[in-house]
Amino acid sequence: MSGRPAKISLAQWEEQYAALRAAGTPEAPYGGPLGRHVRDGDLRLTELQFDNSPAALRLWNFLLTEEDRLHQARAGGKKLLGAMKDLGTVPVLAYSLPNVVAFYPDGAWWLPCVMRMSDGLLAMADSLGVDESFCPVRAMLGAFLSGAHFPIPDLCVCSVGATCDDFSAIAQRLEGLGYPILWWEIPARRRCEAGEECVELPGGFRAPARQVAFVRSELERVRTALEHLAGGRLDDPAVAEGIRQANKVRRLLKELRSLAYSSPICPMPALEMLLAEMLAIHFCSDRDECADVLAELLQEVRGRLRRQEGLLDREAARVFVVNPVADLRVMNLLEDCGGRACGTEYLFCHALDEIPQDLPPMEALARMALADPMVGPARERAERICSDILAFGAEAVLICRIPGASHCATEGAVIAQAVRSRLCLPAAEIEAPPVSDSFQTTLRTRIEALVETVLSARKR
Ligand code: SF4
Repeated sequence: MSGRPAKISLAQWEEQYAALRAAGTPEAPYGGPLGRHVRDGDLRLTELQFDNSPAALRLWNFLLTEEDRLHQARAGGKKLLGAMKDLGTVPVLAYSLPNVVAFYPDGAWWLPCVMRMSDGLLAMADSLGVDESFCPVRAMLGAFLSGAHFPIPDLCVCSVGATCDDFSAIAQRLEGLGYPILWWEIPARRRCEAGEECVELPGGFRAPARQVAFVRSELERVRTALEHLAGGRLDDPAVAEGIRQANKVRRLLKELRSLAYSSPICPMPALEMLLAEMLAIHFCSDRDECADVLAELLQEVRGRLRRQEGLLDREAARVFVVNPVADLRVMNLLEDCGGRACGTEYLFCHALDEIPQDLPPMEALARMALADPMVGPARERAERICSDILAFGAEAVLICRIPGASHCATEGAVIAQAVRSRLCLPAAEIEAPPVSDSFQTTLRTRIEALVETVLSARKR
């Protein structure tokens, strides 16, 4: 029904949606035209280009109806857990309980972009002394205070220790405003010393066994708090089953990323791939539906590749993207400039790697938590990025600096240097605020220069 793959505007999606309905194409209960989200305030949608498949429409609708799902979960008697900062670990535990739904209040990060700053969340953060010297996650403060976005969680759990300064400071401010938080500590991952017992983590990093044991003990505290929240036991078999289900989602994403980023043609735009990857962190508040959404997207990608139907110029420069962009429109811009995403590292590769199933489940989760690229040195993150670049066959790296983010001051240079010296590939850094329209010329110039460098290197 969607015809050949194409990127289309919101207005074109409205017409196509009407045609899909007229043809009787089935849709999920949360389905509907994308335009209704604009009427709810998601104004940035009017300026984006979307993939034209029903699978992509389902993905967008799934993402943009999360708040409704959370309200329904509460109305249905479920407990809501606000997981913060760890990006992918605590939700695996939470979804091991039948009556708990986890989400990331950190997701407010994108509200100023999606709502085109009409939400006033950053202004609210400003008024609390959390100004633009912090990253866009400060929008979370406004979302808590206004209560206009997600329901206030029954329990908030936040990782602290080797996390970014921004998040720690903002979460502390939140607690000071009267929202109690259960803190759990994750230490800075370090190299094993000579003679020290060392374990391999998912994804290939290594850490001292004593650090893993410490994280495991911290996660045990989280488990106990979850049992109190749920009013029932969360035993090892239940956690093991939660890990199996999380791995189902991770395996779907693994194949999706492999096909989308490695194939000679581009079967799915960078923007929809970004949304798909984000689902790994907390399943967008419905783990089973999340798996179905990804399975349909994967089916679409497989079909396009079988039919040899790509979206972009076959000669598009293959670009590895580092860090999520504060303005989603930059993902469109990359493709408008002649590039395509061939590999990504959006700060949560540990949420994409499969969790070991041959270990005691809490040990497996502790190892996964320590594999977070943000709790180790930037040098290790750069190594992982270099090996993923080789795996996906990328020809250049685009590092998206996050405005105000404390870690971005130095790590971009470390990553760019590693890419240039080890792989002899070009790297460029850009910085985009949540609505980057006034920076479009600069951003375009930098991305086009990167693409040009790739194209000229091919001729040598
Ligand atoms: S500074 Fe970076 S790691 Fe910290 S909350 Fe912001 S984007 Fe996430």
